[in-house]
Amino acid sequence: MTKKQKKMLKRIILSAVGLIAVALLDHFGPTVWLPGPIPFLSVSHTSAAGGAAWSLALWPLYLIPYFIIGWDILWKAVRNIGHGQVFDESFLMAIATVGALLIQEYPEAVFVMLFYQIGELFQGVAVGKSRKSISALMDIRPDYANVEREGQVETVDPEEVAVGETIVIKPGERVPLDGVVLEGTSTLNTAALTGESLPRDITPGDDVISGCVNLSGLLRVRTTKGFEESTVAKILDLVENSSTKKAKTEQFITRFARWYTPAVVVGAVALAVIPSLITGEWTKWVEQALIFLVISCPCALVISVPLTFFGGIGGASRAGVLVKGSNYLEALARTETVVFDKTGTLTRGVFNVTAIHPDECDEALLLETAALAESYSNHPIARSLRDAYGKEIDESRIGNVAEIAGRGVKADVDGRTVYVGNDKLMEDIKVSWHPCHKVGTTVHVALEGEYLGHIVISDEVKPDAKEAIAALKRAGVKRTVMLTGDARAVGEAVGKELGLDEVHAQLLPADKVDRVEALLAQKNPKATLAFVGDGINDAPVLSRSDVGVAMGALGSDAAIEAADVVLMDDKPSKLATAISIARRTLSIANQNIAFALGVKGIILVLGIMGKANMWAGTFADVGVMVVAVANATRALKVK
Ligand code: ADP
Ligand code: MG
Repeated sequence: MTKKQKKMLKRIILSAVGLIAVALLDHFGPTVWLPGPIPFLSVSHTSAAGGAAWSLALWPLYLIPYFIIGWDILWKAVRNIGHGQVFDESFLMAIATVGALLIQEYPEAVFVMLFYQIGELFQGVAVGKSRKSISALMDIRPDYANVEREGQVETVDPEEVAVGETIVIKPGERVPLDGVVLEGTSTLNTAALTGESLPRDITPGDDVISGCVNLSGLLRVRTTKGFEESTVAKILDLVENSSTKKAKTEQFITRFARWYTPAVVVGAVALAVIPSLITGEWTKWVEQALIFLVISCPCALVISVPLTFFGGIGGASRAGVLVKGSNYLEALARTETVVFDKTGTLTRGVFNVTAIHPDECDEALLLETAALAESYSNHPIARSLRDAYGKEIDESRIGNVAEIAGRGVKADVDGRTVYVGNDKLMEDIKVSWHPCHKVGTTVHVALEGEYLGHIVISDEVKPDAKEAIAALKRAGVKRTVMLTGDARAVGEAVGKELGLDEVHAQLLPADKVDRVEALLAQKNPKATLAFVGDGINDAPVLSRSDVGVAMGALGSDAAIEAADVVLMDDKPSKLATAISIARRTLSIANQNIAFALGVKGIILVLGIMGKANMWAGTFADVGVMVVAVANATRALKVK
């Protein structure tokens, strides 16, 4: 509990004790406490008239516990009226209790205030707790970094470490900044980022990502990013800002509260006035109207629905899925079409060279020319060719690099123009090429307008890709589509292996957008189309689809920024997990709405019929809120 909450608890206890004391005094009458006649009462207090007079004389005492517990609510109601915001919860509570005092229902007035405050306190504690447990889950922020400066190891704030400095990470410590390992081998626990408990082995030359925990060995790491640019800062930023993008359900609740409260007040006035004019029983109907006001307080909804979505986002991030707002959670729950990119998404994006077929030179030269031309590209093909080449690349030999999306690259190598890419690229530059008999992705190489030969590479599907498609179908996804820029034969082989409904191959990034537009037009307008990509050559589609899902690639910034949902461990199967978390969250939110409105409705009817008193109304209000908040925290738990 915070200091403020403790203070409130004290006020609640004090006021409750006061209420009980005054009520006892009132109930047993003066006989118990004062055996003799009371000086200021003109009639004997042991008679009936005397008892009533006693109660009458006592009522100001109820104001003590009333003001102890309610002064801030009354003050807030008055202040809000001054600001023109008349109809809020404090206003409801203020008129209900002041009204109760006016019709001489003194204990009820205190009790309603008391319970309202108990409810508020409970809610404050519960919300604080679940926010805290979400931040604890996301507790990936490193506290310090050990940086080597002038032969000494200093412990500093991670934000003070510059790019290119050397940091030391001891076993058990959190990696403070993104970097590359200079020295040492170890295993890293990436669970906080990916939800996966499988440790990753790290050797010199490997990239390490901030937020992971170093498990076994001492590592010396050269930082490649400052703290603000590091993975951990980006993720925290994302999660912290996720609540600004509200789900429709949440927006509905806000709008609902805005017209609901005035409606309730108008209803209460009508209930107090109309039957009274007919029957003449003013006290009775004013009391009914006050009960109606107490019962109608919307706090359970206003609190529990946003809390449910917040819990859902927290639960998803625990499973390694970052959702950038509750609106995306809501959209995910309705997913009907899933479109995948191939390379890096369904396949590993790590190509093996299966054949080198030179026309005009030897194999080594063909591979070297290709690898050099690809030295600046981030495409998985480029990385694989560089790996196959295996030697250090002398960057001074390369110039005028241009990436041609969906086709390949162009670069000057030793001052001569080289093109590396697919059939389309060769057509574009009018170099005569020939296809390869081997199945796989064919990468053609042209030097100064002459065909040099081609390299055939092949990729593997990710181990969980097949299961990912099956899980999506089980979750009710109707259409699974793969879009690829790769050759038709390669695309179709992958599609068949994984059990995809459709495959479209040889697409340029712009063609992918067209395909997605067509799929968007074909689907049910209420359902969602999700596109899953790795962020390389598919950023336009990521933003065009209803929900863009990116492979987090543990560090690929472009993807993390362009997407609405990020799968932190690059596993396509996590999409089905995310969909089921989203559905669960939505159903919890709906349960809360139905439950709160249902119970309130019943009590309201009972109240109008004169079967529920103010005590029942108060219990119902607080009870509904406690149940709704407890239910909301379930969204945080993932199976
Ligand atoms: P995918 O849809 O499979 O992710 P891309 O749109 O990234 O594929 O690329 C489509 C095709 O363009 C690749 O299959 C390859 O033939 C060619 N390509 C793209 N970038 C490069 C590159 N850097 N080097 C060689 N070929 C490339
Ligand atoms: Mg791709």
